[in-house]
Amino acid sequence: MLNYFEMAASQIGTIFRVPRENPELMEAKLAAFTRQVPIMYALVVVNTTALAITFYGTAPHLLTMYLPAAFVAICMIRMLSWLRARNITLSLNQAVEKLTGSIIFAGILGVAFSAWSLSLFPYGDAYSKSHVAFFMAVTSIGCSFCLMHLRSAALIVTTLVVVPFAFFFGSSDNTVFTSIAFNFVVVIFAVLFMLLGNYSDFEKRVNSEKALRIKQAELQVLSDRNFRNSNIDSLTGLPNRRNFFAELERGIVNTAHTGGLLLGILDLDGFKPINDIHGHRMGDRLLVEVADRLRAHLAPHVFLGRLGGDEFVMFSEQLLDPDAIAEAEESIENLFDVPFEIDDITVRISCSIGYADFPDAAKTAQDLFERADYALFFAKQHKRGKAVRFSAEHEAEIREASSVSRALAGANLEQELWIAYQPIIDAETRQPASFEALARWKSPELGNVPPMSFIVAAERSDMIGQLTPLLLRKALEGAATWPEHIRISFNLSAVDVASPLSILKIIAVVQQSKVKASRIDFEITETAVMGNLVQATEALNALKTLGARISLDDFGTGYSSLSCIRELPLDKVKIDRSFISKIETDSAARLILRTMLGLCSGLGHDCIVEGVENSEQVDFLRREHCRFMQGYFFAKPMNIEQVGGYLASAQSSMLVGRTAG
Ligand code: C2E
Ligand code: MG
Ligand code: MG
Repeated sequence: MLNYFEMAASQIGTIFRVPRENPELMEAKLAAFTRQVPIMYALVVVNTTALAITFYGTAPHLLTMYLPAAFVAICMIRMLSWLRARNITLSLNQAVEKLTGSIIFAGILGVAFSAWSLSLFPYGDAYSKSHVAFFMAVTSIGCSFCLMHLRSAALIVTTLVVVPFAFFFGSSDNTVFTSIAFNFVVVIFAVLFMLLGNYSDFEKRVNSEKALRIKQAELQVLSDRNFRNSNIDSLTGLPNRRNFFAELERGIVNTAHTGGLLLGILDLDGFKPINDIHGHRMGDRLLVEVADRLRAHLAPHVFLGRLGGDEFVMFSEQLLDPDAIAEAEESIENLFDVPFEIDDITVRISCSIGYADFPDAAKTAQDLFERADYALFFAKQHKRGKAVRFSAEHEAEIREASSVSRALAGANLEQELWIAYQPIIDAETRQPASFEALARWKSPELGNVPPMSFIVAAERSDMIGQLTPLLLRKALEGAATWPEHIRISFNLSAVDVASPLSILKIIAVVQQSKVKASRIDFEITETAVMGNLVQATEALNALKTLGARISLDDFGTGYSSLSCIRELPLDKVKIDRSFISKIETDSAARLILRTMLGLCSGLGHDCIVEGVENSEQVDFLRREHCRFMQGYFFAKPMNIEQVGGYLASAQSSMLVGRTAG
């Protein structure tokens, strides 16, 4: 029983309490209340004045003038305070205070008006008495409607009017008033029932709006996370490729105000060997350190992002003058002078940068990126560790490359491609030991196109998959006519080595030719294998299983020559011609060449020195016990007809002995 009362009391308590734990509901109540409560006071003022006028002259002045005047004044003050509250944002506590104050005031108002109107009753005739009943009923119903968003206030007002009304008029001798009391009670119950229903709809709506807002906030968090994941590089925390392109587009649009934009692509030199030797974890940490160093160094207005791998990108929307650019280049280069310390391992790397400016170098974001990338490619090839600005010469090269690509796509490859052969001399026998097959293209449109141009164009357009088997077939057709002991060297491109399908095609060509695989040397360059060392090793092993041998071409020009020579299944190494060309004047070059020769013999690899152009170089190499040489001193590349004559004359005139003593 006690429990039942406690429950009922708590239910009633809930009805009369302002819901502090549901701030959204309270806020909504306050908003609706603030809108409606001034109307209530206006209604009370008008009704009070009307009732006071009805009784003016018949009832004492206290009841018809002073009390109504006081009521009207209080109601006006409350009305103005609520009208002012419309423009003020209240804190939770202030709002609770204001609503609680309204509940108390509603109680006082109910008692005061009931007492006042009933005290007028004895002074009136039948009409004015009816006005009292009408005043109480109509005013309390009107107030209930205006107070409906503050359920407790509405209930208090109606209860404090309805109870005295029912007793007063219900106990009257006049049957009209008894009926009015009955009617009023019935109506007020119906009104309260409707209001409470309405209130709970209002509460539900506010709560569902709240739930919707929570859902929207959760969605916002998820979409923010999603945006972050798809725009931020998870390793370094820098903006990623997608973010960079979006920002670059925006930056380009902004150039209408800024005047221009400078874009730089930065690529680490020597990152891949570190990754291969020390593992990916170490590589990742190095990338994070590089990102941190760059971020700390660059001015806040410079956008810094990671494109992927060891490539970073940066752009500034402030145009820099040439001196400032040179200073920026130097300061970034200096950043890499300090070695990186990771897990007690000291790592030294440098970076190459290609940069281009908008609108001078390009007119769109994509073109600007391609131009900066071209400058980077140039830096990597010719100025490793330095910054290269995209220039007019680069523009001409790009134009030429695209005309080469176009002509190659429409070329009759079978007819227009041919093979030149350049001998490789064995210093021991003083006879040609082998010929290197060098691709030649005589285009009806462009004339003789150097292999460096059309091979690169074919690599870019994926035509290399067609070109290599065709060139190899032609090269082997020529070699098939030579004596068995003369070998043939054939250059493979990076794309060939990276594609298992290309390797299968190459094997098929070898198997269909009249030249034994054991007579073939495949030349690969370091850049061809470093992209994917595992796939390259598999490809080279497949060729070795066939019986062919593998030579590392242009040794010493790359950044990872030493890791290549250690990890790849090599038979020979060809030392790049840049080393021999300097030996007459540069003692360091002599020392380097000597060391390279020693390294090759130490690893058990045959060594070929490329680009031998004079007898002094031959003498030096012979003193250093270098066995194989290639270069214009012995012969320039020749066509297949010339090879026959060359071989015949070589046999009769001990080539090396005659020319180099
Ligand atoms: P490489 O394989 O290093 O070929 C040697 C290049 O040096 C040849 O240029 C050759 O003519 C040149 N050379 C030889 N001796 C001397 C010398 O004493 N002095 C000077 N200054 N140069 C000398 P080439 O024929 O223009 O070939 C350039 C490059 O094109 C080759 O370099 C090779 O990487 C590539 N290449 C040529 N043919 C093919 C091919 O069939 N397939 C592929 N993938 N690449 C090829
Ligand atoms: Mg070669
Ligand atoms: Mg070479």
